[in-house]
Amino acid sequence: MRIIISGAGVGGLATAQGLLAAGHEVVVLERGELQQAGPSGYRLRLDSRAMTVLARLLPASLFTALLASGSGRAVNQRLTYLDQRLRPLGSTREGDRDVLTIGRGPLLRLLAHGIADHVREHRETRSFQITPDHVSITTTDGQTETGDVVIVAEGAHSPLRRQLLGDTGGRVLDAGMVSGRVPGRAADLGLTGIADALRHGYALATGRGGFGMFLSAHDPVTGPAVDPTVAGPIQPDLEDPYLIWALLGPTGRLPGTDAGQSVLRAAVEDLTRAWHPDIAHLPRLTDPVSLRRVALYAAPPVPAWPTTAVTLLGDAVHVVPPTGGIGASTAIRDAGHLVDALTGIGDRPALLNALHQYEQTMRDYADDIVTGSIAPLRWQHRLRHPLVYTAVTATRATTFALTGRSLPLPSRN
Ligand SMILES: Cc1cc2nc3c(=O)[nH]c(=O)nc-3n(C[C@H](O)[C@H](O)[C@H](O)COP(=O)(O)OP(=O)(O)OC[C@H]3O[C@@H](n4cnc5c(N)ncnc54)[C@H](O)[C@@H]3O)c2cc1C
Repeated sequence: MRIIISGAGVGGLATAQGLLAAGHEVVVLERGELQQAGPSGYRLRLDSRAMTVLARLLPASLFTALLASGSGRAVNQRLTYLDQRLRPLGSTREGDRDVLTIGRGPLLRLLAHGIADHVREHRETRSFQITPDHVSITTTDGQTETGDVVIVAEGAHSPLRRQLLGDTGGRVLDAGMVSGRVPGRAADLGLTGIADALRHGYALATGRGGFGMFLSAHDPVTGPAVDPTVAGPIQPDLEDPYLIWALLGPTGRLPGTDAGQSVLRAAVEDLTRAWHPDIAHLPRLTDPVSLRRVALYAAPPVPAWPTTAVTLLGDAVHVVPPTGGIGASTAIRDAGHLVDALTGIGDRPALLNALHQYEQTMRDYADDIVTGSIAPLRWQHRLRHPLVYTAVTATRATTFALTGRSLPLPSRN
């Protein structure tokens, strides 16, 4: 079968790898370019479910190179909660044993390894047409691409999703994010408070006014999941160490999504002035090109739609805010189910049946993923009120100091 995938992102490339291995003909249309060497902007936490899928979809040597390019649970054992002065409020253990954190750049470069010939860059999809025998895609340059099935993996705001389901697939949330990347290691930069907070993994510092800062050190050079020197024939893609921060807060108090780098930097400096000096210092240490204002979206409940030869995966069907840290893992999970469904399929009736099965399976977990990803934002929203903030942080800090144990976290809904 000839399969067209729109979008060479996380889900699209993972699917392409699996479908090519299953013997299908695959063309990937990408509106931009494949990721080139260089820093990635941010790093992704992939859960064990996603890692199990990748172990199945990728050639063994490529999967080993992936492990050698990121860090495992050994360096990401806990999520530590702090107040804005970096005083500990508690922590939760990373329950997932086979988690991998990897830069988005290395992940995409490795997912494209060996299949770049199948990717057509600068081809932005506009619409699809379904006939009894095939399906074709028209791109904005006026060209068409024809195949037996189209997999829409073009992320949030997909034009093909709009045509298929009549909506853009995501409602904007009343919270936004500014994120950035600081090259180097916290301790080497003199950020001892942050280095301490990140000793066991990730950290979330909760501030006043409904703001919170997520912090994570990414250091695959010293803490890879697999020793890169014994990785095998495919070279690991190792990034230099960096610190990732993301300031979450009410949309109305953040700059607009079109704000430039200097505006973003000034805004974060202003908003974190009263925080711990290490945090207040971060904007000045941040690589300016990495500064991003991210609007947060969440998918409405995933609808059931009549199955056709056009299907969806990843953010194109169930976009989630990064607060759940699960959007990429879910795109890979979708890829696994879709590749399984299409393996061995050769004719149209069998194809539609297989796609229908995939869509049912994906819908069964998609809504829970979206709800779970919004929960931390709800929690933060409640802390906007100064009395609530003071009461919650004081109680949690006292409990933690007296017992060394965290109070239970808010429920996921
Ligand atoms: C700051 C941040 C941190 C995150 N952290 C995590 C994390 O720790 N763990 C996690 O699991 N997830 C995380 N996520 C979410 C994760 O990045 C996304 O959920 C994931 O990339 C979705 O994969 P996808 O394949 O659906 O789409 P994408 O990876 O976004 O890929 C879509 C691709 O389609 C292309 N495209 C778009 N429109 C068109 C078109 N019309 N025609 C052709 N091509 C098109 C795009 O250029 C892109 O290459 C984070 C996101 C952000 C912003």
